[in-house]
Amino acid sequence: MNDARRALPSVHVLLEQEGVRALAEHAPRAVVADAVRQVLADARAEPERAPATDAAWQAAIAARLAAHERPTLQPVLNATGVVLHTNLGRAPLAEVALAAIAEVARGFSSLEYDLDAGARGSRHVHCAALLRELTGAEDALVVNNCAAALVLALNTLANGREAIVSRGELVEIGGSFRIPDIMARSGAQMVEVGTTNRTHADDYRRACSPQTGAIVSVHRSNFTLDGFVAAVSPRDLAGIAATAGVPLIYDFGSGLMLDLAPWGLPGEPTARDAVASGASLVVMSGDKLLGGPQAGIILGDAARVDALRSNPLARALRVDKLTLAALHATLLLYREPERAVQEIPALAMLTAPQAAVRARAEAVASQLVAGGVRARVEAVEATVGGGAFPSARIPSCAVVLDGDAVRVERALRAGSLPVVGRIADGALRLDLRAIAPANDHRLVTAVMDATI
Ligand SMILES: *Cc1c(COP(=O)(O)O)cnc(C)c1O
Repeated sequence: MNDARRALPSVHVLLEQEGVRALAEHAPRAVVADAVRQVLADARAEPERAPATDAAWQAAIAARLAAHERPTLQPVLNATGVVLHTNLGRAPLAEVALAAIAEVARGFSSLEYDLDAGARGSRHVHCAALLRELTGAEDALVVNNCAAALVLALNTLANGREAIVSRGELVEIGGSFRIPDIMARSGAQMVEVGTTNRTHADDYRRACSPQTGAIVSVHRSNFTLDGFVAAVSPRDLAGIAATAGVPLIYDFGSGLMLDLAPWGLPGEPTARDAVASGASLVVMSGDKLLGGPQAGIILGDAARVDALRSNPLARALRVDKLTLAALHATLLLYREPERAVQEIPALAMLTAPQAAVRARAEAVASQLVAGGVRARVEAVEATVGGGAFPSARIPSCAVVLDGDAVRVERALRAGSLPVVGRIADGALRLDLRAIAPANDHRLVTAVMDATI
């Protein structure tokens, strides 16, 4: 080992190599020097793997520089079996949404220009008509995300006033979204009613007062409550709110636009159901079950949505043209539900029959086996993730890699197209449900690269 260490070249010698000097033409010398030092440190730590030739040193240094240039935000293959994975960017976009983004991004657009009038227009018009049509809402407004939508709704209706919410709905959604914190920041004073497990209509009625700015109903999107429980439905709450003369804000979360019961996912309300409940305002995400870009969608009666639009905070929470383009294209697909289920990746992934996922897993596994990788196929259960169907288990199929699961899992994450899987019972499982079929060959390549 000492011999190998002694044989390592110096930083200076490496920097003077012709191939390394060529690298310095494309990167600052200090950055190249850093890469050289890191490659030398690796060689010192693992002398048996140290580069043996000039060409090998240069390749190692070039690889180190390339790794530096890689954006930290990079595409990954989601083999976790959690379809709407918040840490992995939630919903992938439909092809039509990608095309719409490219078209609008490439040049100028009518973002805030009324082409009919030849005068200044509003960005708020772009998705409103389609949202009205698809959900039955009187009016609609799009902001940055659902958290922003809730802040805007509360701040507009209940700033300096009280907002009534059940103790069973003081939830944390993930990504540091906590209902009590959001409510506090919106300027509303939270009035908790009921208990963790049971809240009744009378609890809300008794809490209503001249100080009430709004009643808030939060959908249980990431947990279930079983046993001795009672809750007031948004529909009943809308009645109570109307009688008391206060608005109801319904944080519905998922943005589900189609009933997925025919595909074995029953029981979640759709956006149309949420609007029909009679809530004054419904807020939901664009990048969960709706399957579009990150956005917060506000649906509700015209006067209140208008009040939100005029709140100066709406300016701070507004969306950009790329989001509006993608959201519009995604929403348009819902005019033809069969097309929506096929073309919106999140819905296609959630509704694919297990047999189809199995066939793909078997094809992937056999290619891996042919390449000398020990792989087999196993039935597993996938989940929806991201804010709906918290207890649904979707029959799925995984490619199981036998061998050192921890090592392979790490190698897959470090690859040029990282793959995020799941280790269970000591084996690495790659669930194919949240991988687009068009990416199966990339999965094969990534696994081959990680297991050699
Ligand atoms: C996901 C979720 C949110 C937060 O949505 P973002 O778009 O991530 O801000 C809020 N409320 C509910 C009920 C949710 O499910």
